[in-house]
Amino acid sequence: MARPVRFNVHPIQADIKDNISLVDMPEGYSGEGFFTTQLSSVVGLARKNSMWPMPFATSCCGIEFMATMASHYDLARFGAERLGFSPRQCDLLMVMGTIAKKMGPIVKQVYLQMAEPRWVMAVGACASSGGIFDTYSVLQGIDQVVPVDVYVPGCPPRPEAILDGFIRIQDLVGKESIRRRNSDQYKNLLQSYGIQ
Ligand code: SF4
Repeated sequence: MARPVRFNVHPIQADIKDNISLVDMPEGYSGEGFFTTQLSSVVGLARKNSMWPMPFATSCCGIEFMATMASHYDLARFGAERLGFSPRQCDLLMVMGTIAKKMGPIVKQVYLQMAEPRWVMAVGACASSGGIFDTYSVLQGIDQVVPVDVYVPGCPPRPEAILDGFIRIQDLVGKESIRRRNSDQYKNLLQSYGIQ
C-alpha cells in the first residue's frame, strides 16, 4: 500500500511580529526626516551585532562552547553565528581550555594574524589563570601572551556564562571609540606584549 505523501509545511502560521527584537537606537538628535549621532555609536552598533568569533579550543571548555553554539543556547541570536577559522576574517578570539606554555606562542601568532579592531575573551579558569593546573607546563593565563578584554570564570563555565561574557564583549565593542586603536594608551598596551 502506498504511504501517504507528507508535506513539510507547518499547518500553523508562524506569528513572528512579537518575536523580532530591534537593537536600541544610539543616543542622538532627531527631527523631521533626520537623525544625527556620533560616528562611533553607529560603527559600534554595527560591530557589536556582527561579531565573527574565532574559536581556539583546546580542551573541555571547548565542549561548553559547542553547546553555546548549538540550537538550545544559540549564539546566533546575538549576531555571532558566523564562526571563522581563519584569523584574518575574525574580530573576536575566544580562547577556551588549558593552554600549555608551548601553545602560548601559537595563541599569540593567531592574535597577530587578526586585523584590528580585535577583541579577546578568556573562557574558563584555565584560559584565564591556568585553573587547577598550577604546573611547570601550563600557561597561568593567556594574558601573559595577549591582552584580554573579558574573562569568563568557571571550570567549566556553563553556556549561560559564555553568553554573559559575550554580551560583555558586545558592550565593550558598542562603546569603543573608533579612535581608541590609535591612542597612545592602546599602543603602550600592545608594546607591553612586544607587539608593534
Ligand atoms: S577550566 Fe576546567 S573545564 Fe575548562 S578547560 Fe580548564 S579544566 Fe577543563
